[in-house]
Amino acid sequence: MNIILLGPPGAGKGTQARILVEGRGMVQLSTGDMLREAKDSGTEMGKVVADVMAKGELVTDEIVIGLIREKLEQGGGGFIFDGFPRTLTQADALADLMDEVGQSLDHVIAMEVNDDALVQRITARSTCGSCGEVYNDMTKPIPADNKCTNCGASDFKRRADDNEESLRTRLMEYYKKTSPLLGYYHAKGQLRWVPGLGEIDEVAGGIAAVLD
Ligand code: AMP
Repeated sequence: MNIILLGPPGAGKGTQARILVEGRGMVQLSTGDMLREAKDSGTEMGKVVADVMAKGELVTDEIVIGLIREKLEQGGGGFIFDGFPRTLTQADALADLMDEVGQSLDHVIAMEVNDDALVQRITARSTCGSCGEVYNDMTKPIPADNKCTNCGASDFKRRADDNEESLRTRLMEYYKKTSPLLGYYHAKGQLRWVPGLGEIDEVAGGIAAVLD
């Protein structure tokens, strides 16, 4: 089964993708993670995208479609597309790529949240630099012993673009360029809404109900 997790920044896509990877052996394809990796390792492409990402704007369709193409051509399945597609051009490209590799898209899960919750989540969020476990200052603080509950590492990071100014741009990019995908996938009969505001387990239950 291949799915898209769709929602604004801070909706919990990454957290839910990790639960699906652990619980169902699915494969998370996060273009945000791929771009951050390219940026951190200082590749040519990484240098090109660094500035755009810091501002909270979208990088070009060509770059992210290339990243996804590379992953899909490696084979496998059970993909969770997390943060991709973000534009109608990317959505069309994904449909073509899936055809090319003989895969299909089963569900597009739209996570329903409100902007106040997003701001609260994003400005309070940090992740384990070693395994990617997500923490939140209010709801899931970093343990007192400063060790990740998942892997034991003590390397917590805050994303450079998790600040109010960049977030404002990221939200506007979402509403202008990504939210039209809700209509696109609705028209294709693939859109499923899941409440994204509850506890992590409740949201995961909503997603499981769709998948099962
Ligand atoms: P994310 O981790 O999904 O929040 O993505 C972080 C940043 O990476 C975004 O704000 C964009 O600058 C860039 N990015 C990630 N995925 C895409 C995409 N599918 N299209 C364009 N830009 C993207």
